[in-house]
Amino acid sequence: MSGSQQEVPEVVGISDADLRFGAGTALVVVDVQNDFADPAGSLFVSGGDRVAAAVAGLMRSAAADGSLVVCTQDWHPAVTPHFEEFGGRWPAHCVAGSWGAELHPSLPPAESVVRKGEGERDGYSGFGARDLGSGEVEPTGLRELLERAGVTRVVIVGLALDVCVRATAIDALALGLKTVVVSAATAAVDLQPGEGARTLAELREAGAEVV
Ligand SMILES: [Zn+2]
Repeated sequence: MSGSQQEVPEVVGISDADLRFGAGTALVVVDVQNDFADPAGSLFVSGGDRVAAAVAGLMRSAAADGSLVVCTQDWHPAVTPHFEEFGGRWPAHCVAGSWGAELHPSLPPAESVVRKGEGERDGYSGFGARDLGSGEVEPTGLRELLERAGVTRVVIVGLALDVCVRATAIDALALGLKTVVVSAATAAVDLQPGEGARTLAELREAGAEVV
């Protein structure tokens, strides 16, 4: 085994007590979808299948302890400037309605789902997606969902650490939410070696708690 991206630790050792689920805390599950979490997915993140298993356990704990559980879902049209074929950065992934866009089957049914990346938008942050033409950010409704539930603290897990988890955590911090990232329940794309580790350091520096 080589490369940090392959070393997804077991979630053994993370207790519910560490994560302090309960009313006021939401579990935000970022993009645990087949294209990222299944080895047959078009943009499989190494370790993504193990992340899905870990996230499933956290979803059950969070719900049992009274936390709101929200899953984000990358949800793109087949033709979008987000895909490399049309001038973007990524191979086609999470095309609306496709198998790859479905939430990973190991997850329990999601209480709330917010979709992102529709139209010509990028869809990195669970809170809002940027239009690749105008630069305008379209909110996904996640902020209102958390506000309505009285959430002041978010525990963020999912895929990929150095892309959508990062963007979601940065926006959560900017909104003044206490932000926790569970490193064992996420994995990085690591396009540049070490990107995942740098992301954790960056998020810690920005005020997130990394457990
Ligand atoms: Zn995407």
